[in-house]
Amino acid sequence: MKSEKLFELASRYMPGGVSSPVRAYTPYPFFTMRAKGSRIYDVDGREYIDYCLAYGPLVLGHGNEEVKNAVSEQLEKGWLYGTPHEREIELAKKIITHYPSIEMVRYVNTGSEATMAGIRLARGFKERDKIVKIEGGFHGAHDAVLVKAGSGATTFCIPDSKGIPKNSVQNTLQVLFNDTAALTALLEKNSGEVAAVIVEPVMGNVGPIPPEEGYLSDIRKITRENDVLLILDEVITGFRLALGGAQDFYGIDADLTILGKIVGGGFPIGVLGGKREIMELVAPSGAVYQAGTFSGNPVSITAGLKTIEILERERVPQRINNLGERMRSALREIVQDSGVEGSVSGVGSMFKVFFSAGGITVRNYADALGCDKNKYMNLFHAMLSSGIFLPPSQFETNFISFAHTDEDIERSIEAYKDNLSSCC
Ligand SMILES: *Cc1c(COP(=O)(O)O)cnc(C)c1O
Repeated sequence: MKSEKLFELASRYMPGGVSSPVRAYTPYPFFTMRAKGSRIYDVDGREYIDYCLAYGPLVLGHGNEEVKNAVSEQLEKGWLYGTPHEREIELAKKIITHYPSIEMVRYVNTGSEATMAGIRLARGFKERDKIVKIEGGFHGAHDAVLVKAGSGATTFCIPDSKGIPKNSVQNTLQVLFNDTAALTALLEKNSGEVAAVIVEPVMGNVGPIPPEEGYLSDIRKITRENDVLLILDEVITGFRLALGGAQDFYGIDADLTILGKIVGGGFPIGVLGGKREIMELVAPSGAVYQAGTFSGNPVSITAGLKTIEILERERVPQRINNLGERMRSALREIVQDSGVEGSVSGVGSMFKVFFSAGGITVRNYADALGCDKNKYMNLFHAMLSSGIFLPPSQFETNFISFAHTDEDIERSIEAYKDNLSSCC
């Protein structure tokens, strides 16, 4: 096995053999040779239908030709200017068209960077230090939000990272998802001290957990009543659930919005956007400092623009949301028939089988932590043997892309049918 050998080597030179924690699993992760459309191919000659999709950005699947051509053309003209260029305006206009709550944007390079800047901006705008995040919510890997964080932190049972000074998280308060009473109580208790509530509209890093009916509009109302900013982290949901993200899908708005992943068309990006009166506080027009060498680079901006153009033209969200619906309803039947203790979660093009205790519906972080991770990893390996690549963690979301065909979906449903009861 070439992958096994490479992992041994990689582990010598990189912690855990990987560049980001969730990529590691036992006995060893496959190493990728190439990827195209809905497929990813490993160095040992195996082909998989990919539902991991680099954890979210690849809404068009791997190696989309139009995006590739647009980027190739841009490369001819250079790939990093360190000056303003016109496409930054074009992408900003596109974003603003689809997200009425956004009037201005600041481009950064990752979602982590965007939430870091967004939290700083909220604190600067409100002149208050405290923020509220949702338990299990993931907003990247920086100090202020690495408390009870989802994604790799949950997968590897590191809810609170070492190396973070206590005083950098003492202003990060937490509540459970889908619990408006707890949020109201917390904001009232800390009245006048909280700058913002930051929330993923659909939790995406403890598995997909959709908001319950009315939850998001309640949060909007509660934050307004308590004079607190609402930061919607749409790094996963943006341009996926709908062109206008969860804000359009659920009919809410935000004071600040974080975009990432899809908006760079598979190249590194993050976007902080929001109301003009808040955004104008960002340097150089305002006193909240933020800067970056690679920010607004023409490659990421070009790939993002082309991707959004395709999303619009092909009505991609509708197509992939329908496939998601098909997948979830089939999986619900399979779980029920198999007698396995579990439930199926998700919305739009996101789905997941949770091995939840007693087969309960997973509503929040606490419920997610009650799921059987070992059973999930059994399923993961069985599916891999069947040629299906799911994310290697109970707590990561499966994504469907525009490159996935009806046949891909049917084949994957059959694989779930074969593997779910036998492996668990
Ligand atoms: C992935 C993710 C981030 C972090 O984005 P990076 O580009 O990995 O830094 C932030 N928020 C959410 C909701 C995410 O899913």
